[in-house]
Amino acid sequence: MGLTQSPPYEKQPLYIAGQRHQLQSTFTTVNPANNEPLAEVSQADPSAIDAAVEAGQRAFPSWSITSPLERSRILLRAVHLLRARNDDLARIETHDTGKPFSETSTVDVVTGADVLQFYANLIAAGGLDGDTTPLRPDAYISTTKAPLGVCAGIGAWNYPIQIALWKSAPCLAAGNCMVYKPSEFTPLHALQLAEIYTEAGLPPGVFNVVHGAGDVGARLTSHPSIAKVSFTGQVSTGSKVASAAAAGMKAVTMELGGKSPCVILPDAAVELAVDGAMMANFFSSGQVCTNGTRVFVPQSLLPAFQTRLLQKMSDIRPGDLMDPNTNFGPLVSKPHWEKVTAYIRHGIETDKATLLYGGLGAPSPLPPACRKEGYWVRPTVFTDCTDDMLIATEEIFGPVMTILPYDDSHPAYLTTLIARANATPMGLAAGVFTADLALAHQVVGALEAGITWVNTWGESPAEMPVGGWKKSGLGVENGRRGLEAWVRHKSTLVEMARGGSGTVFAKL
Ligand code: NDP
Repeated sequence: MGLTQSPPYEKQPLYIAGQRHQLQSTFTTVNPANNEPLAEVSQADPSAIDAAVEAGQRAFPSWSITSPLERSRILLRAVHLLRARNDDLARIETHDTGKPFSETSTVDVVTGADVLQFYANLIAAGGLDGDTTPLRPDAYISTTKAPLGVCAGIGAWNYPIQIALWKSAPCLAAGNCMVYKPSEFTPLHALQLAEIYTEAGLPPGVFNVVHGAGDVGARLTSHPSIAKVSFTGQVSTGSKVASAAAAGMKAVTMELGGKSPCVILPDAAVELAVDGAMMANFFSSGQVCTNGTRVFVPQSLLPAFQTRLLQKMSDIRPGDLMDPNTNFGPLVSKPHWEKVTAYIRHGIETDKATLLYGGLGAPSPLPPACRKEGYWVRPTVFTDCTDDMLIATEEIFGPVMTILPYDDSHPAYLTTLIARANATPMGLAAGVFTADLALAHQVVGALEAGITWVNTWGESPAEMPVGGWKKSGLGVENGRRGLEAWVRHKSTLVEMARGGSGTVFAKL
């Protein structure tokens, strides 16, 4: 393993051409549960970023022509190592993100490894094959898929190793090389993954890591030798990254934020709807891009829904993050804690929404294992919200549910409900809870979102392509379609008749 297995961790290097690369200039990453330092991290300077890109360029000619079967073998060895080290990696993620071990050990590494396995298997089974189309008896067209080159992966802090794998898996499987920049708030997984890839047999330079803040991401994005940028983060940052990439005509995949509607229909089972709404708001302390934070509840169900929700809020258990019983952690960083706290305050003081549960401050009483210096907030529910409230329009990215009641006594209520659900510039996810599957299809069909669920929330398996509509993103990750984002197409027309195009002029 690349790291000592408990904090404080050793100084984190960059990873370039299969080697650790320490730099003098560093920044500190802290444990959000107690605000104690976890590690010093090498801060990439422009020459280190250039060196990482050049390492990718040197590796590309050979990696891009390595057969898909051989690439698959290497990636599957990495899958094996990830699964064998699941708990060690999950512990590191818990320290770095503040997410409970009960989550990181069952979701983060597992779902990342699943995607790597999916793409390794897909390329071995012909996923990169082209087509042949007979044109005439003596001519045909063939299409091939070629890798793009050296690509940049820029990650957010909420699912660090999962994001790193969701980007690097299809990228490397397709024959590209990658320079990966994790969020400066959660850098610890990156060396682990890089060294696992190397141990699995990935040639030096195919996967490189640079650390730092937005300026490092910006330099990567505008680097002339970067062919594509795959970005996960906020809409505002994504917009800057997409503009910079467009200037260099680079391909992009943008996985951005959302303000997704969770639509409870009048015939929904209350228990199922409450479980879904809780999953859509409090998992990972609400730091999930696909959260369904706008919960539309019919007036006819509102009393029963709220009563059951209040009973179930006690199932949210903050505590020692390594305790398997803990399912709620602090927020990832001080700036994020300040942002989420400001939204809760705004909801109470300015929006004047009805506070049904939670509110300002840390969970009370804070369990003994939790330090008040950590970035804790209370799971919070506002009700009787209206569509124009700030808490109902902007992405909070914390454990804050807004209940938006609707009048279901009117026969045409569905039209108004769908219009309200779609009244957001974002379109990442949406979901509907109902006993009527035909109605579910009708509603899902009308919702403007790239990722939708019926009677469930949040599962995002390797087989399922995911990506946002409207301002929530461009392109998809995962599934068969996710591989297409990492290749370019070449079409070749082959003329077998003697003479070919020359005969055209001969006839003139
Ligand atoms: P940010 O947009 O703040 O940052 C994302 C990454 O971009 C970080 O690595 C950041 O560096 C880097 N960055 C910042 N500025 C630039 C720049 N000018 N050029 C290139 N890179 C830059 O997002 P957060 O980290 O706060 O992540 C939370 C957001 O991510 C939420 O909006 C959430 O919805 C979204 N998200 C979307 C997902 C999806 O699949 N659709 C999945 C997960 C999260 P640094 O932070 O180190 O400064």
